[in-house]
Amino acid sequence: MEINILKKVLSANDAVAETTRELFSENKVFAVNLMGSPGSGKTTLIEKTIEIMKDKFSVGVIEGDIFSTLDAERISKLNIPIAQINTGPFGGDCHLEAGWVKEAALTLELSKLDLIFIENVGNLVCPAEFDTGADKNVVVLSLPEGEDKPIKYPLMFRTSEVMLINKLDLLKVLKVDITHLLKNAEKVNPALSIFQVSAATGDGFDLWNEWLIKEMGKKRDKKSQIFFKT
Ligand code: MG
Ligand code: ZN
Repeated sequence: MEINILKKVLSANDAVAETTRELFSENKVFAVNLMGSPGSGKTTLIEKTIEIMKDKFSVGVIEGDIFSTLDAERISKLNIPIAQINTGPFGGDCHLEAGWVKEAALTLELSKLDLIFIENVGNLVCPAEFDTGADKNVVVLSLPEGEDKPIKYPLMFRTSEVMLINKLDLLKVLKVDITHLLKNAEKVNPALSIFQVSAATGDGFDLWNEWLIKEMGKKRDKKSQIFFKT
């Protein structure tokens, strides 16, 4: 019985997620759902990416947290449009659902944006089970978390198209076996694109930014194709 209920909730979320994605498409904005453990560096990664791309692209952020606006306050220093979702009042869910993302997105001037980062609640488990309505899922895994995480939390790495290995600047002190980590990720999802970065220093961001720019372009082209067909 419980399984049936869960299925029902998930499929209701899937239906909303499609309308959330349509909202992003209508506005030609590319939406990235950024997932990862608490402390993996999601917020720092968003800050660094915006710092680099800010002059050429309009970026907005939807911040998901159970409580607090701490991350949103950090991001707001960059003077970009930002919306906060706190799941605390809805029972403290440890993930974001598509309906909340849509509501948050509607508070932003979407037509003026090229890119939206949705920072999911820090958690390697259930954010992977709920489609947020974003175009792509990206998982941030930081070196201190170890090599085994793709094997232990496979769904997260299967639902993601990109894995960002973050905190590369700590490699020397941590002695993490990156080759082993890459093998584990490949075992779980051979199609995963992997970028090794340091959000603290900006190292490795060229390939990550290239990926974002390519995907933003696809989103705009897709929209113009739809236009020309009708
Ligand atoms: Mg954060
Ligand atoms: Zn959850």
